Amino acid sequence: MAKLLRKRFPFLPPDGQVDHLVVGAGVVGLAIAERLVKAFPDRTTFVVERHGQVGQETSSRNSEVIHSGIYYPPESLKTALCIRGRDLMYKRCRQDGIGYRQTGKLILATNDQQVPYLRKLYERSEGLREAGIGDVPLEWLTGDQVRKLEPDVGDQVVGALLSPKTGIVSSHELMEHMEKNIIDSETGEMVLGTQVVRIDRAEPSGGGKRGDGSEDGWVVQTFTDDGSGGSGERAAVLAKTVINSAGLGAHHLVNQILPETEQIRLHFAKGSYFSYRGPGVSNVQRLLYPCPEENVSLSGLGTHLTLNLKNEIRFGPDVEWLDPERTEDGEDVPSFWEKKLAVSDERMQLAIDEVKKFLPNVDPSGFVPDYSGIRPKMSARGETSVDFSVTHPRPGFISLQGIESPGLTSSLSIAEYVERLVRKEVWGLGRGTGRTLRTG
Ligand SMILES: Cc1cc2nc3c(=O)[nH]c(=O)nc-3n(C[C@H](O)[C@H](O)[C@H](O)COP(=O)(O)OP(=O)(O)OC[C@H]3O[C@@H](n4cnc5c(N)ncnc54)[C@H](O)[C@@H]3O)c2cc1C
Repeated sequence: MAKLLRKRFPFLPPDGQVDHLVVGAGVVGLAIAERLVKAFPDRTTFVVERHGQVGQETSSRNSEVIHSGIYYPPESLKTALCIRGRDLMYKRCRQDGIGYRQTGKLILATNDQQVPYLRKLYERSEGLREAGIGDVPLEWLTGDQVRKLEPDVGDQVVGALLSPKTGIVSSHELMEHMEKNIIDSETGEMVLGTQVVRIDRAEPSGGGKRGDGSEDGWVVQTFTDDGSGGSGERAAVLAKTVINSAGLGAHHLVNQILPETEQIRLHFAKGSYFSYRGPGVSNVQRLLYPCPEENVSLSGLGTHLTLNLKNEIRFGPDVEWLDPERTEDGEDVPSFWEKKLAVSDERMQLAIDEVKKFLPNVDPSGFVPDYSGIRPKMSARGETSVDFSVTHPRPGFISLQGIESPGLTSSLSIAEYVERLVRKEVWGLGRGTGRTLRTG
């Protein structure tokens, strides 16, 4: 797509300048822009989003769970940002009246072979506390204690861990708040219905030489299709800093500025959800997660029960790896995954089998295919999951790749992290080092 776009959209000289240009108005891009607007009130920040509304992709196709931070390697960015993000999220929800509930969650062992997995999580929780990384409390429960709390859980369940810090949030309310804060600011602007199609390093202007600072920045070309059937409108702006938060399309942008040897490949794992109405769940108060059958780092967290703020019940997401269609250049076809969002009945039967292992009285006829989301993964099928990747591969170009779960939980802490990066490496000391901060 990077090559495809560059062929389709020849270079256009910039008309205007902006200090920060954030690509993508998912929850992460919005959180970053909101943070930059507040942290740098004298600098301009644009958010460019290809859809007409914010949060139309992964940020509105997830479980809306505020994760506790227990699942990831202790030294990872995911752990640090999830724990910090979780605390910031609860605080933010309380302060701004954003819908949330600290439901707590049970991770259930349905046989004795799964108990060692729970033990490992429990030890990790203690390790995190002892190492001063963060507080992720977990409580051991026997099968009977679980059924006292959640009477719908079946006799197969031999034990569980209770995670009291897990909860749910209305991601839509959260994103609305963030968008409003950007719009209401003096220096922030939302540019919706506009796709970033091309990015070039700015050439020296006004007689300056490369390296003297005058060329700093990126020429960002955008395309706005007004839907009238015409050819659409192209425009270009000089952005002193680009923050690539384009989720499932992030590689198409960062690859435009990287040589072949540094190109990034994303992998796509679909997760389907099924809504449920029927018997066998009438008393459920907490989120219910099974122990993942496979190594959790290879797949997802297992088909679990989530509640939303209206107490509606959904099961999911499962894990289904997608094979991208490829262009002649071997790149994945832009947004190929949009055609693959439908949830199949076949997947539903698999989910029902999984759910019956811990909620035996659910009725298969109460399941209905609901929606799906696509995980942007840095690891391929069968490989161990890698960390969030927040990089600064070229001066003034910050790029986020592989922001899968717990990206919603971590959105506010990712924003904090990126703000520090921008402050230090773009506007302050160490400017222009171009070094990679952290790659998974
Ligand atoms: C099935 C599933 C379940 C999940 N469950 C949870 C959970 O319970 N808790 C949790 O913490 N996390 C969860 N996550 C992860 C979480 O949803 C994501 O980490 C988060 O939404 C990522 O936000 P984002 O802003 O990076 O990406 P996105 O929401 O994908 O936003 C990227 C935006 O960039 C825009 N864009 C792309 N290319 C361009 C371009 N060229 N020009 C302009 N705009 C562009 C897109 O239109 C999009 O709006 C889940 C994810 C999945 C898939």
